[in-house]
Amino acid sequence: MDNQVISFHYTLKDEKGGVIDSSRNSHPMSFLVGRSQIIPGLEKILVTLQKGDKREVAIAAADAYGAYDKALVREFPRNKFPKKEIQVGQVFQIGQGENHRVATVTAVSDAHVTLDANHPLAGKDLNFEVEMMEMREATVEEVVHGHAHGEGGHGHGH
Ligand code: ZN
Repeated sequence: MDNQVISFHYTLKDEKGGVIDSSRNSHPMSFLVGRSQIIPGLEKILVTLQKGDKREVAIAAADAYGAYDKALVREFPRNKFPKKEIQVGQVFQIGQGENHRVATVTAVSDAHVTLDANHPLAGKDLNFEVEMMEMREATVEEVVHGHAHGEGGHGHGH
């Protein structure tokens, strides 16, 4: 299965059936197998499917975005942030390069800003509807880069 590129459509739903995210309005998502580019629970299923197969899959948090980690919720001094107003729900990038994370503001006071760097879906069991669209050999360039190119793949910023 290594060096295969899989393209698939998905609709992600929460426990109550509300749609969180879907690829249906856009290109199928593409990924290079075996490079941890999508959540493990989903990759495990997709590699067993044939083109055109559809599945409804329930994925436990541990096999999705992992457990919610309280250690990733931290208070920072207010003066480390821009002077303009900061609101709960606003996101900031913290860390550098490969280690950067997106953190969401969960509380603001005069002295502190609390940031939660957990993935928004951490600790959640997820329900996916998936459809296998295509499986193909990766190009040499994709293997070297470690990700899929083309529609639904890595865009290299354009
Ligand atoms: Zn690339």
